[in-house]
Amino acid sequence: MTAKLIDGKMIAEKIYDQIKSEIYKFKVKGLRPPGLAVVIVGDNPASQIYVRNKKKICKMVGIEVRDFVLNADISEEDLVKLIRELNSDSAINGILVQLPLPEHINSERIIDTIISSKDVDGFNTINYGKLLFGKPTFIPCTPLGIMEILKYEGVDIKGKHAVIVGRSNIVGKPTAILLMSQHATITICHSRTVDLPSITRQAQILVVAIGKAGFITYDMVSDGAVVIDVGMNRVEGKLVGDVDFEAVKEKAGLITPVPGGVGPMTIAMLMRNTLQAYRESKMGE
Ligand code: NDP
Repeated sequence: MTAKLIDGKMIAEKIYDQIKSEIYKFKVKGLRPPGLAVVIVGDNPASQIYVRNKKKICKMVGIEVRDFVLNADISEEDLVKLIRELNSDSAINGILVQLPLPEHINSERIIDTIISSKDVDGFNTINYGKLLFGKPTFIPCTPLGIMEILKYEGVDIKGKHAVIVGRSNIVGKPTAILLMSQHATITICHSRTVDLPSITRQAQILVVAIGKAGFITYDMVSDGAVVIDVGMNRVEGKLVGDVDFEAVKEKAGLITPVPGGVGPMTIAMLMRNTLQAYRESKMGE
């Protein structure tokens, strides 16, 4: 069979339209727009591309971006000070610190300095804990984007065997929690998993987030599986996923391409989380 392609870009655009019209309604009422602070330390080219894309979309939907491009040698204390200032700035609803940070800075401390109500990436300890407990919180953008794709495509998650390859804090682990909360049976695989193909072949929903180009091959996927490829790898200047797309699409039922699958949804969910933070800040006024 040939899989149906999941058009993440198109789904993201529908979400942008919803966000744009909600922000417009606030504007008509004379309220200031949502504000997102984007903090980038050093000159990592990949980070700069991500940040540029995020800023472009913010502008398009009506979110005001304030960016802070800081020298790679900024001290941890100065960065903490900046985050604290942003925490108490009422024009800022979301704070995004682009990772990775330089080695001399303790990333966990920085992320935990962001006040929970502005942690639109959902990475601080309090919000992550709430996610584990199933309490309302900011859900990390990539896992949330994956869930939104599954919802949009009408994938019935309940009772399905979902296999997640990759156990990172930003993708694999939270995706497993979210799928489990919707009653999937979960297997999480990682670099020490023995006989990975025998497990991935059992997946009705297969989420791959490892960072190895074309790692998941035709023989590792079952007929009709839903395949979500999170990977973003540069091969000879081209962006490719963790799944051998050309081969696997002949076997899967639904599949995300790279680019144009999970990537655009991640940014869309950041916009949605920022709007959520803005809405919640208004409730307190
Ligand atoms: P990490 O490097 O943090 O985690 C990779 C995971 O893959 C680890 O759990 C690792 O296992 C596992 N792994 C590595 N090699 C193997 C292997 N041979 N077999 C099984 N498991 C393996 O990566 P991230 O989760 O941050 O990112 C994964 C990919 O997703 C990257 O390509 C990244 O660029 C992309 N990404 C894309 C996003 C998007 O918006 N589309 C957003 C975030 C990430 P172990 O724990 O044992 O080391």
